[in-house]
Parts: sequence; structure tokens; C-alpha cells
Amino acid sequence: MYDLFKHWQKTCIFLTRKCNLRCRGCNVINYQSAYEMDTQEWISAFDIMKEFGVGFVVLFGGEPTLREDLPELVKHLNYINMPHTIITNAVRLVKDRTYYERILDAKPYGISASVNTLTPTTKFHDDLKSDVGHKLLLKLLEDYPECDKVANMAITRENIRLLPDIVKYFSDRKIWSILSFFHVCPPEESMYWWYRGPIDDNNRSLDFREEDEWMVAAVAQWFIDNYDKLMLHNGKAYFESWAKWGIHQDWHCSEWACPAVNPDGSLMACIDRPLSHPYSIFDIPLYPREIHQNFKEVIARCPGCAWDHMIETNKYALENQAELGKKNFSHQSDGDS
Ligand code: SF4
Ligand code: SF4
Repeated sequence: MYDLFKHWQKTCIFLTRKCNLRCRGCNVINYQSAYEMDTQEWISAFDIMKEFGVGFVVLFGGEPTLREDLPELVKHLNYINMPHTIITNAVRLVKDRTYYERILDAKPYGISASVNTLTPTTKFHDDLKSDVGHKLLLKLLEDYPECDKVANMAITRENIRLLPDIVKYFSDRKIWSILSFFHVCPPEESMYWWYRGPIDDNNRSLDFREEDEWMVAAVAQWFIDNYDKLMLHNGKAYFESWAKWGIHQDWHCSEWACPAVNPDGSLMACIDRPLSHPYSIFDIPLYPREIHQNFKEVIARCPGCAWDHMIETNKYALENQAELGKKNFSHQSDGDS
């Protein structure tokens, strides 16, 4: 029965869909849950993931630091030996010293902060989070050197030429980089996607166009050529997919390798698409076959994406290398497969 989920490597957890920022192209905050699970419910959910062999948990949102119980959740993940990272816009961690110290006392396995540029020039919140994210990562170098630190970058039409220098900057400071394509959708599709927001006049300049294919391929090739000198969380093979899927965003998942969980416990096929039946994480031991079937139906109808973590977890799944995937996501192996 559990074989249905034998490729399950990682889970993205929406601890909350509330956020203290409003970034361009984000639809997460427009799908609020009527209910957010409490500490004990999340602890039970993590125990189920452990039982099913999940190797890495992404504590995600919304903004996960809006939850007062994040330190307790981190402590439990450490207790069950589950590598994890907190993906944060860094605002509260930089501004609220008491909360920052509570988080560090809990000893999170990793902290990932969004940094899309090192030289923010606009007043948009995604530039603000680049500024505080950068500050947080440098602060962690001093305050918590053993933490697995990651700079999380959205690849956009505006920053793609800068990415080699940004990744090099963080690699020189022993900070990992994760790169993922910026996603937006036509306005008429915004009721369909739970992560990517509608394209509009504020975010159009970030979205790639057909004619950018050569530029995307050239930057990808630079990362492939310099891969061994950099601290890249993405596997080398990911960069080979950039020109193909990065612009058209029509890659298709096939395996239950990295599902997501909403604040109320309901399951999603990925961060962008919910299951069509309201199964929750607590249904997994009871209805594995039905949940797997519903997942297959949902992904069969999906027009596609280019989410880095989905492409990578599916690659490991299709190569029967789920264990290697788990080690790579927690930076516990020597490199790419
Ligand atoms: S992208 Fe992240 S930080 Fe920005 S509004 Fe969305 S959830 Fe908040
Ligand atoms: S193709 Fe799969 S991973 Fe991508 S958006 Fe659709 S359901 Fe999600």
C-alpha cells in the first residue's frame, strides 16, 4: 500500500497563507484557509510524513514567521530527525529580536531567504524582501554558522543576467542558492492557480518572452559550465531544462514526489494546484489509493509549470533515486546524481 508513495521525497507546508508583504505575481495570499492547524495537529502531520519516508520538509507560506509556534514545530522536526528549511521573507526575523532568538534557540536545520537582487531599486515588496533577506543571511553567518543557509531566487527577465554574480557572491560566503522561474498566469486563469498570480502592469517586466530563449540558454550554460565551483541547490540537470520549460512553463509532473499541505491540512498536488477532493494529510494512512488516484486525475488536467523543486523531485522519482534526492535537498550528499 505504501508503495503508492514510494517516490515521496519532500513536502511543502503552507503553515499559513497570511503574509506581511504583497509581492508581484503572488497568489498565495488570495487563497486563505478558514482554519489553520494548531501546533499539535502539525506535529501529528509531521509524524505521518516521517512514517511515509519523507526526507525533507519545507516550512513555507505565506510567511511562516507569522506563526508564534514556529520554534516548537522546528523542535519537533529536530526531535524526529527530519531535515527542514524555513522559507522566509526575513522581515520579522530582522526586525523582531526576541522572535529571532527564539527561532535560533530551536536550531532550525535550514533557513532560506528570498534574494532576487543585491541592489534593490524599486519600492515593490519583492525588492524589499531581497534587501532584508540579504541582511538576514549575512547575520546568520555570524549568529548561527551551522545553519544550512540558502538564498532563494526567482529567475525573472529583469534579474537573469545578474544571477551568475549573485550566486557567486553567496557561494563565496558558503551560502547555497536555489533558483526557480518566476510564474504568472493570464488574468482569466488566476482562479485556477493557488500560487502564481495574474500578469499585470506591475509584473509584466519580470515575465519572459519567446525572444528571450537564447539569453535563458546562455545563462543556463554558464551555470552548467561553472557548476562545480558554486553552491547550487539545484541539480546540474535542472539548468538544461531552462530554455525548454522556463519560458513556456509547460513541463508536466507525473509522480507524487513533492506534494503540498495547506494551513488547514488539506492536500495539494503541488504548491500551485489543490487536489480536487478535500483529502487531508491525516487521510493518507486511511485512503492512500484514493488520494493517489485523485492526484493522478488532477495532474492529468494541469497545463504545466516550471517549478524547480517539482522538476527535480520528479527526475529523482523517475530514475528510482528518491533516497539520493532526499540527501541532496538536505545537502547531505556530495553533489548531483
Ligand atoms: S511571495 Fe512570499 S513574501 Fe511575497 S507576498 Fe507571497 S507569500 Fe508573501
Ligand atoms: S504540472 Fe504538476 S507540479 Fe506543475 S503545476 Fe501542474 S500539478 Fe503542479
